[in-house]
Amino acid sequence: MSSPGTALVTGASSGIGLEFARQLAGRGHDLVLVARDRDRLTQVAADLRGDHDVAVEVLPADLVDRGQLGTVEQRLADPDRPVEMLVNNAGFGLKHRFLDNDIEVEQAMLDLLVTAVLRLSHAALGPMAERGHGGLINVSSVAAFLPRGTYSAAKAWVNSFGEWAATEYRPSGITVTTLCPGFTRTEFHSRMQVGRDSAPDFLWLDADFLVRTALADFDKGRTFSIPGTQYKVLAPLARAVPSSLLQRFQSMGRR
Ligand code: NAP
Repeated sequence: MSSPGTALVTGASSGIGLEFARQLAGRGHDLVLVARDRDRLTQVAADLRGDHDVAVEVLPADLVDRGQLGTVEQRLADPDRPVEMLVNNAGFGLKHRFLDNDIEVEQAMLDLLVTAVLRLSHAALGPMAERGHGGLINVSSVAAFLPRGTYSAAKAWVNSFGEWAATEYRPSGITVTTLCPGFTRTEFHSRMQVGRDSAPDFLWLDADFLVRTALADFDKGRTFSIPGTQYKVLAPLARAVPSSLLQRFQSMGRR
């Protein structure tokens, strides 16, 4: 069977990105792993090479740093080493409300959740369109459907961008799927210093299930992937509720 090509995954050192790396390796993709922690990436790469017959490159980069982001853009655009699939996954959230956060931390979150997704997508889509095939999975959040602070606002950009790009690049043979996870067991909340009690048990998803569902939706060419029955019910509800009503709950969220 021919190789499905190389996939580049950002935030591949833990959580959802690590699970994407594992499942894509299981499908036979060679991989380029991006995150800041070189040691963790090196260990992940060794594990994946041991478990699957795939080539794995490690590309450590802080995607908030424009120079390091540029290195990843160059890798995506390299005509001699084509990347068939890009998973824009790296991200973090902020515990405090807008005015309680240092503005530089807010800027870093926007740079990672929006600017990195914009620039890496641009770098990847050009060569994919020329070749007439390729795929993007952008990891957003169900938070994108709610007006709850700057994290939600950034993820709403990812949804809007992905919905447009899916239609724009489908004729070029490119699938763009936007994954909207609900609460998922990863390092996301502990890094934010928020406990698992921040949401009831029934809302928590496993990264394994989340990614398996996302890849199945990607295979079907779906524009959005919203894994989990609970979120399949809640997400359209959030979209249907008038924004005037949603805004009444804003005081419970981040500002
Ligand atoms: P996670 O376990 O904390 O993983 C985050 C990944 O992003 C890590 O690999 C981290 O690696 C990388 N990263 C963070 N800052 C980076 C930077 N400046 N440059 C490069 N890489 C960076 O969290 P996760 O839950 O898997 O999050 C993945 C995505 O899912 C994020 O976009 C998040 O917004 C989204 N999401 C998560 C949930 C959830 O409940 N978990 C829900 C909805 C959406 P290094 O520290 O090594 O850089």
